[in-house]
Amino acid sequence: MPPDVRPRLTVLSGPSGVGKSTVVAHMRKEHPEVWLSVSATTRKPRPGEQHGVHYFFVTDDEMDKLIANGELLEWAEFAGNRYGTPRAAVLERLDAGEPVLLEIDLQGARQVRASMPEAQLVFLAPPTWEELVRRLTGRGTEAPEVIERRLGAAKVELAAEPEFDNTLVNTSVEDVARELLALMDVV
Ligand code: ADP
Ligand code: 5GP
Repeated sequence: MPPDVRPRLTVLSGPSGVGKSTVVAHMRKEHPEVWLSVSATTRKPRPGEQHGVHYFFVTDDEMDKLIANGELLEWAEFAGNRYGTPRAAVLERLDAGEPVLLEIDLQGARQVRASMPEAQLVFLAPPTWEELVRRLTGRGTEAPEVIERRLGAAKVELAAEPEFDNTLVNTSVEDVARELLALMDVV
């Protein structure tokens, strides 16, 4: 395939609770051809999360090995846990011509920008700070101290928004999913 028709890697980042998973799930319901990378994480599963579907849930030792063996395209520590993108699967899908999406944090997005400058970086922003707090708290999946930690990280992530190629404001899940598909040239 000539380089100009190779689909670009798209990275979606944004503060915890802004709605990244919700938007991606909505988008993939109608466009299952968009391939979403499954990350490895040392975080414990939330109720309903499945190994190999939402994440590969790994031990600290297993994460150490993935990093040492160079098996991760990028990795970062976020709010007390480590997360990383398995490299081989991403490169295989890009080579197969499939649109590839990574849903990762700011530190990971910066690493992808450095190693794959052709990637497009999309920032998902909340309509307001108060709405972000409401969503993160309302999700009900984290203890109050974890929410505080994630809101601290959110301030850093929001300040980095100008580093991204595009910003989408998550007011309507349907609208943002459509805009993201358009950025990925899927529709
Ligand atoms: P993230 O993956 O960015 O951490 P989630 O997708 O888990 O965030 O969403 C956090 C919470 O916000 C969930 O309870 C979700 O239902 C809600 N949410 C997501 N998008 C919207 C939206 N556009 N309007 C209102 N609530 C939303
Ligand atoms: P959560 O614990 O809410 O699933 O994810 C916490 C944060 O880690 C989110 O910002 C999410 O995008 C990010 N994340 C998930 N997987 C990866 C990954 O493979 N690499 C990096 N750098 N961040 C990730």
